[in-house]
Amino acid sequence: MDAMVEQGPEGSFVLGKVDDLLNLARKNSLWYMLFGTACCAIELMQTGGPRSDADRFGMVFRATPRQSDTLILAGTITYKMASRIRLLYEQMAEPKYVIAMGSCANTGGLFQESYAVVNGGDLFLPVDVYIPGCPPRSESLIEGLMLIQQKIEKEPWLKKAWTNTKNPKDPQIEGLL
Ligand code: SF4
Repeated sequence: MDAMVEQGPEGSFVLGKVDDLLNLARKNSLWYMLFGTACCAIELMQTGGPRSDADRFGMVFRATPRQSDTLILAGTITYKMASRIRLLYEQMAEPKYVIAMGSCANTGGLFQESYAVVNGGDLFLPVDVYIPGCPPRSESLIEGLMLIQQKIEKEPWLKKAWTNTKNPKDPQIEGLL
């Protein structure tokens, strides 16, 4: 970030691009939704605990989609849950980000052949970061959150049109949404 602190006659001020200053604030206040669908959610809880301490990056969980800007798909996603997750996602304010945490959220994982399981969160949501593992450790989730921070850093915030919601690609899901 190119920003300078200057001393003026009436006090100090910061000189920098609006994008940089806004993105600095946004990337250090990622609020993720308190939500999980299976065992990966335990690692998500661990990430919010004192050992990993996601708070030190300005990342705190919110128990409502209306105050969250990051959705972490933590766990196996069944077709029955997919429509609920999509509804929660749509209730979040723009700009918003999605992390697929673990093999189940990435590809369906162990349950790929099941009639009831969606083979990846990107079939019905625009996923920004994929984290491998079964389950991924909390360090991996922190790294994923830091990748979102890097993405935010480069965004031309004032110019971006917030229309990143893709249409669902899975015909079975399309019928449910
Ligand atoms: S990836 Fe592994 S730990 Fe995570 S929800 Fe699937 S089975 Fe559970």
